[in-house]
Amino acid sequence: MITFDLHCHSTYSDGTLPPEALIARAAQRGVSVLALTDHDDTGGLAAARAATRRFPLRLIDGVEISVTWRGHTIHIVGLGIDPGNAALQAGLAATRGGRLARAEKIIAAFAALGIAGSGEGARQFAANPHMIGRTHFARFLVKQGVVKDISSAFKRFLGGSQPCFVAHDWASLADAVSWINASGGVAVIAHPGRYPLDTAQMRELLTEFRDLGGAALEVVSSSHKPHQYARFAAYAREFGLMASIGSDFHSPAESFHDLGSLPALPADCRPVWELLTN
Ligand code: AMP
Ligand code: MN
Ligand code: MN
Ligand code: MN
Repeated sequence: MITFDLHCHSTYSDGTLPPEALIARAAQRGVSVLALTDHDDTGGLAAARAATRRFPLRLIDGVEISVTWRGHTIHIVGLGIDPGNAALQAGLAATRGGRLARAEKIIAAFAALGIAGSGEGARQFAANPHMIGRTHFARFLVKQGVVKDISSAFKRFLGGSQPCFVAHDWASLADAVSWINASGGVAVIAHPGRYPLDTAQMRELLTEFRDLGGAALEVVSSSHKPHQYARFAAYAREFGLMASIGSDFHSPAESFHDLGSLPALPADCRPVWELLTN
C-alpha cells in the first residue's frame, strides 16, 4: 500500500520539527509520498530533499499560500512546484512581507491586554524570522501558562473574532494559483471544511478556483470530520477537481493527527497524485 500525505509543516513555518526530522518521522510512520507545504516559504525543501536520500520516501516540493478571498483567509497548497521559479518566489516574498507589520499589531493587542513580551516570546519559537505567525504567539502563551494548550490560545486570543486577531490582506486567489501554475505545480484548496462559507459561497469559491486553473480539493484533511470527506469528494466530482489528502501535521506535541495517519481517499475520487509526475 502506498501512503500519501501531501500537507505538513516544518520549522521553516509553524511546525516544530526541522525538515530532516520531519522526513525521518514520515518514513518511520510508513509514509511513501510526502509533500512539505510550509506557509508562504519554500526554504525547507532543500534540506528535506537531502534527507530523503536516507529513507524510502518520495518528496513532493510544496507550499501553502495564504490568500484573502472576499474577506476570508483561504489556504492554497501548491504541489510539485519548482522552488527555483522566480515568479513563485517573488509572490511568496510579497506574501510573507506583510507578516512583520502584522506581528507588531498582534504584539500591541497583547500589550493592551496586559500581556507583555509577546514579540520576543513569539520570536523564540519562530526559527524562520520571515515566517512569524499566530502559532508562534500561541506557543508563547502556552509557555507563559496563560493558556493550557494551543487550541485555547486560538479560542481566547488569536482566532477570528478574538481580541488579538489582526485582519490581514494576503495574496489574491488569482495570484496564488498563477504563481503555483507558473512554477509547474498544481493548486489545491486546503482544508475546505474549515472556512466559514455557506453553500452558495463555497460553490462560488470552487467555480472561481477552477476557472483560474486550480486543480484539486483537499478532501481528506485532519481538519475534516469523516462525514466531510464524502461532502468534499462530491464537490470535487461536480467541479471536475482532483482530490488530495493531507494531515496538516505541525508538531508531535500539538497535532492530533500524525503524519500518514489519515484514511484513504473515497473510492470515487480522482487522486491529485496522478498529476504529480516529477
Ligand atoms: P497565520 O498564517 O499566522 O494566520 O497562522 C495560521 C496557522 O495557525 C494555521 O496554519 C494553523 O497552524 C494555526 N491555527 C489556526 N487556527 C487554529 C486553531 N483553532 N487551533 C490551532 N491552530 C490553529
Ligand atoms: Mn500552520
Ligand atoms: Mn492551512
Ligand atoms: Mn497547513
